[in-house]
Amino acid sequence: MSIENINGCIGCGTCVATCPTDVIRLNKQTKKAEIKYPADCQICHLCRMYCPVDAITISPEKSIPVIVSWG
Ligand code: SF4
Ligand code: SF4
Repeated sequence: MSIENINGCIGCGTCVATCPTDVIRLNKQTKKAEIKYPADCQICHLCRMYCPVDAITISPEKSIPVIVSWG
């Protein structure tokens, strides 16, 4: 399993603050969270549980390459 996607983010920053391995960063331009270091994800589900708008998806397959960014 691995963090897979962030959709519908409102930029509150909660996931950035709660992730113990600093996988997620807030993009200053878009003001949305983005997955910067997916390989460091420990699948703790904290980001998903604390996101106020349920924007975060944790995938069931860690082997799947995960690249997510906002242009
Ligand atoms: S599941 Fe845990 S380790 Fe992975 S991105 Fe979310 S808070 Fe970070
Ligand atoms: S907790 Fe959810 S809404 Fe807040 S920055 Fe993270 S993904 Fe976006």
